[in-house]
This record gives sequence, C-alpha cells and structure tokens, in this order.
Amino acid sequence: MNIKEICKDAERIGIGGHIRPDGDCVGSCLGLSLYLKKLFPAKEVKVFLEKPSDIFSCIKGFRDIVILGKEVPKEAEFDVFFAVDCGKERLGSAERLFDKAKTTVNIDHHVSNADGTGMYNYIYPEASSASELVYELVEEDMLDADIAAALYTGIVHDTGVFRYSCTSPKTMQAAAKLISYGFDFSKLIEETFYEKTYVQNQVMGRALLESMLIMDGKCIVSYINRKTMEFYQVTGADLEGIVSQLKLTKGAECAVFMYEIRTMQYKVSLRSGEKVNVAKIAELFGGGGHVRAAGCTMNGTFYDVINNLSVHIEEQLEEAGA
Ligand code: 5GP
Ligand code: MN
Repeated sequence: MNIKEICKDAERIGIGGHIRPDGDCVGSCLGLSLYLKKLFPAKEVKVFLEKPSDIFSCIKGFRDIVILGKEVPKEAEFDVFFAVDCGKERLGSAERLFDKAKTTVNIDHHVSNADGTGMYNYIYPEASSASELVYELVEEDMLDADIAAALYTGIVHDTGVFRYSCTSPKTMQAAAKLISYGFDFSKLIEETFYEKTYVQNQVMGRALLESMLIMDGKCIVSYINRKTMEFYQVTGADLEGIVSQLKLTKGAECAVFMYEIRTMQYKVSLRSGEKVNVAKIAELFGGGGHVRAAGCTMNGTFYDVINNLSVHIEEQLEEAGA
C-alpha cells in the first residue's frame, strides 16, 4: 500500500484510532499525521481521538488532537480517512467521518479485524503494533526524531517494552532504526510506560490485594468497582497496567481484570500466556483484540462476568492439557 499515492490528490485528510486510546493508538495516529503533514505541508491533516492520557503529551502533535465526545464532530467531508489500530466500528464518534469520506484506509494489527474495513486495507495481525505498520508505510527519508518518537512509543506500549511474544525481529529492526533519530527513549519509556501516580499505584495495590486465583491458580481475576474508582478519583486510563501485573503471577496462564464503566457493566481486559487464545473468548462477547491480549464489555456482577468467561478459559486450558 502506498500512502503517498492514496493521499496525493486529497485536500483534507482525517485520522482516527480506537475508543479508550492506548499508547499504540496515540503513537500510530500521531506518527502518521506528522508524516503526512511533512509530506504534504499544504494539506489539512486532523487526528480524532477520545481523550488520551496526558502521559502522551510529550509526543508532537498531541495538543492538536481533536478530542471526541459522544456527538459526531461537525466536519466537512474528508477526502481520505484513516482508521488506525482498529476497524471502523471502534472509531467512536469518528466512525461517521470515516463512513462519509471519499476514500477510506484501514491500518491495523488486530486479529479480530483480519479483513479490514477500508477501501484500502493494511492489516497484519502478526505485527507487534499499528505503529510498526505505520513505520513500514512511511518513506524512510521522511523520518525524523518526532515521527520516530511517536512510533517508538506505540511499539513500546504494545510489546510491553519488547517483552510480549508479538515482538519480532522486524519489530526490533524498526525500533533500532527509530532510536537512531536521537530522541530520549529511556525517558519516554520511563514516563509513558512505567511511571505511575501515587493514586494509580494505590488502586493497583487494591486490585492485587483483592485478586483471586481460580482454576488451581491457572487463572487470576480481579476488579475495581465504581465506588472505589470514585473514592480514588480515577478513570479507566488510570487502571492501565493492572492486568499485566496480575499476569506476572507465577503459575497464572490467564489474567482477567475488569472495571465498572456503569452500574453492572464492566470493561474486561484479558491476558494470557501460551495456552489460551483470549481474542477468541473476547469475540464471543462482542469484543476482540489479539491472541494474548484482548478485551470486551460485559454486563452483570463481577461474579456473573467471571462465571461467563471462566467456562471458556477452562475449556481452552483443558484442550491444551493444562
Ligand atoms: P485492553 O485490555 O488493554 O483494553 O485491550 C487489549 C487489546 O484488545 C487491545 O489491542 C485492544 O485494542 C483490544 N480490545 C480491548 N477491548 C476491545 C473491544 O471491546 N473490542 C475489540 N475489538 N478489541 C478490544
Ligand atoms: Mn495496537
């Protein structure tokens, strides 16, 4: 796929990423927009996202992001609209902008979006991140420290700092090239990935303290309800990293973390080791993601949700002979 060719006659270009944007979503969308602005200084390029965490404010272009609310933004038709790190149905209120655009492009690495939802699709589930895919599409002589830092952020976040099995030699080659542009990558990793506020750590502590081992310790589950979130004054974005911490528990093949988004409705995060395909389970409940990291939204109490999920986790563990 040739982005330059697709965009050459466009006057207005839009870019959107998934609801509840994470590091890869923000990094890939901003990396792509910085590239397009550099390639075509005369064109209008706009990024639409739900409010991302301020930890990503170090990425160039962060302040120019159009923050999505429930209403579709009042925007004239775009000539080209990109859905990055998701299919069009997870663009939130930007989905209408995608639908109205003359040309649509989908760049994604989610196995649950294997067919793509654009007129042009660049979908590789084996890629570590959408940022790695944007890196592949960017012309090398256009790269600079700002674009590199954006894409590097995305790769770092979706690979858990190059730890997860989605990390490939290609990922490391991309990262090697990106750091050669000379941005402070240690600071970037520290400040966007590891650093937590005091209250974020406290909530993580609560979730760990109240976690439960089920299935003979092969699965670990925990949750945070609305009352606790209100008490600590935290939002979903503050809970990032809890599920990965749970997954570090020795013997746990699978980790489930959920937080209440409204009464009796939970945003569920699933992580797995080698035996459970969590994308398959999330898809059963209307969600999706990757084989080792996926999510969905489910109704009921914490126990209802765990009961519904555990049948499928157990089934897969048994099939794998665990
Ligand atoms: P997380 O648990 O960090 O929210 O998400 C893990 C992975 O699954 C991410 O790649 C995320 O984009 C994807 N994911 C999370 N929730 C959903 C969902 O409801 N639907 C789909 N299709 N993907 C999801
Ligand atoms: Mn991603």
